[in-house]
Amino acid sequence: MSADKQSENHKAERHKARQQKVKEAVDAKIAKAQTEKGVLLVMTGNGKGKTTAGFGNITRAVGHGKKAAVVQFIKGNWPCGERAVLEQVGVEFHVMATGFTWETQDREADTLAALSAWEAAETLLKDDTIDIVLLDELTYMVSYHYLELDRVLEALKNRPPMQHVIITGRACHRTILELADTVSEVQPIKHAFESGVKAQLGFDY
Ligand code: ATP
Ligand code: MG
Repeated sequence: MSADKQSENHKAERHKARQQKVKEAVDAKIAKAQTEKGVLLVMTGNGKGKTTAGFGNITRAVGHGKKAAVVQFIKGNWPCGERAVLEQVGVEFHVMATGFTWETQDREADTLAALSAWEAAETLLKDDTIDIVLLDELTYMVSYHYLELDRVLEALKNRPPMQHVIITGRACHRTILELADTVSEVQPIKHAFESGVKAQLGFDY
């Protein structure tokens, strides 16, 4: 056998041994993770992909026949592509009746709108027939003090034990992160907007 071939065989064997170890470690972890419960997932950070990830999870659940609901806490005056699809397959939507804060500049109206959307969320968080709830852009309601943190925490803690909840938005409050089971931070490596590309229908919303 040539030296080259021998070295190739050696590499393949080492790779196989390493993969075997990885597999054993993963299998052991899988065997250990036996709990089934409603997961609180937070998608935060400044990069693009939080809301689309939330809707991806909702779509996955619906595809398995689960009952899903969405509350959108910040909504501009543009159409929501996901809503157009998901409402057709029975996903309940509640949309906060206001645009971005820096557009409305009306704290009182924003607070009322936030409260009204939150009441819809609270109803969902008490309903054990709902398998998964997306609270899109909820983080801002807490950081702008439109909603009381304690009220949000209480509803999340007391929700049906099997209900999954996804919270999206930048700068999620530390206490919500502590309560969450899974937290992912989307980091912006770059964003097209910075090189002058506008938000486009069918891609950004
Ligand atoms: P998406 O809805 O595409 O998943 P997101 O939920 O992560 O994005 P948000 O912070 O909610 O992002 O912002 C919503 C809008 O702002 C989207 O149109 C998105 O493309 C845009 N956006 C997200 N991140 C950035 C960024 N780092 N710079 C500029 N625009 C951004
Ligand atoms: Mg978003």
